Amino acid sequence: MDFKNFIDGTWVATSETIANVNPSDVSDIIGHAAKADAAQMDQAIDAAHRAAPEWAASTPQQRFDVLDAVGTELLARKAELGRLLSREEGKTLPEGIGEVARAGQIFKFFAGETLRQTGDRLASVRPGVEIDVTRSPVGVIGLITPWNFPIAIPAWKIAPALCYGNAVVLKPAELVPGCAHALVEILSRAGLPDGVVNLVMGRGSEIGPRLVESPKVDAISFTGSVPTGRGIAESCGRHLKKLQLEMGGKNPMVVLDDADLETAVSACLNGAFFSTGQRCTASSRLIVTDGIHDRFVTALSEAMAAMKVGNALEDGIQMGPVVDERQLQQNLSYIDIAAQDGGKVSGGERLNRATEGFYMAPALVTETDNSMRINREEVFGPIASVIRVGGYDEALQVANDTAFGLSAGICSTSLKHASHFRQNARAGMVMVNLPTAGVDYHVPFGGTKGSSFGPREQGRYAAEFYTTVKTAYTLP
Ligand code: ADP
Repeated sequence: MDFKNFIDGTWVATSETIANVNPSDVSDIIGHAAKADAAQMDQAIDAAHRAAPEWAASTPQQRFDVLDAVGTELLARKAELGRLLSREEGKTLPEGIGEVARAGQIFKFFAGETLRQTGDRLASVRPGVEIDVTRSPVGVIGLITPWNFPIAIPAWKIAPALCYGNAVVLKPAELVPGCAHALVEILSRAGLPDGVVNLVMGRGSEIGPRLVESPKVDAISFTGSVPTGRGIAESCGRHLKKLQLEMGGKNPMVVLDDADLETAVSACLNGAFFSTGQRCTASSRLIVTDGIHDRFVTALSEAMAAMKVGNALEDGIQMGPVVDERQLQQNLSYIDIAAQDGGKVSGGERLNRATEGFYMAPALVTETDNSMRINREEVFGPIASVIRVGGYDEALQVANDTAFGLSAGICSTSLKHASHFRQNARAGMVMVNLPTAGVDYHVPFGGTKGSSFGPREQGRYAAEFYTTVKTAYTLP
């Protein structure tokens, strides 16, 4: 299968391509994806720039019809597209199907929002003057997405962009072109004017800066790594461009003595290892109080040993492979670093399966303290560390002692501690007796400190980024 770029309503090939490899079986080449150059990126930006005014003038009904149709098709094809997702990204089949369904629900949510765009009408302090505060489209929005949620993240950026009347250029991650292609193929048949949605695949370092720097692009929404996000922020700062960044996490999960052990183990197993730990909301620091520490480590280690790791497309697999060799090597090197710094590692070895892929066992590093590199830097793999603390106050202090602030969890049956943690955890999302990862699609998503920058994504809060506010004064 060839995954072509989609520019101004036309599928466009490139002379060079990038192979799309299945991480569960490297002999399985899913297809070849376009590798755009800067000139092709410029064509897509020009097309979006020309198309933006027409879509900005579209009615809520037109927008509803497009978004609703896309949501319906995604939901109807979730098994087929979920398989493609799991094949190219490596999360398990139920996770892949669930992600496609979520993308469909996101489109349905924003279809509804097209009909609920409101403003404010206020009395002026001046006699006879009326004031209207309304939201207008921003214009052309550049969307840069990572590989770990190949369809949900493009969906949660494209759906609100179109809902609020913008044109987009999507630059998906090189490792997962199939899902971006499938999503844009559905959008290409949904009744949009040519040029409103453009797909440009290629190396981020080559074509990404073009999108970020173009004077015809009004805003950038980026999800990815901290270094890339920081570079984009500097560039957007120079160009005074509207910006939304979602980056890393080093998410704490506090387990208190009074926690229900089963709840805590299941929340930590899910939060740390599901989706192979490749979630920015993954629980990577398990902060555990003295009285439950040993029981918790024993129970979690048993649950980890029972996890079935293997080919993402096989039945009963609980953890698929790492996304590629580079990420696997990074994970293994962090395990070495943790051991050198004095941590005690169990699991984490490379695994062989019937097909050649990037398999590793989930890893737990105990006897760590919060100053070790394993607890300061995001790994983005199936590795969690345990930090033993004396009590709740120390747990909260350690949880907040990080450069990140995306998600923070606590397992406790104490209402007093849970509600204090909800108020005082310095994170954009707080979870009580639930995994740090796994969120609803109709509420805001985002963090504090080094995790996020700019307005929140998702839910009604998405309007903040995808619209600009206009205040109109009228003397009738
Ligand atoms: P990861 O380590 O998860 O791949 P990256 O931040 O490298 O995270 O990638 C996230 C997205 O940013 C991808 O779509 C990638 O192609 C893109 N990207 C990489 N470098 C740049 C850049 N210099 N400018 C814009 N986008 C980039």
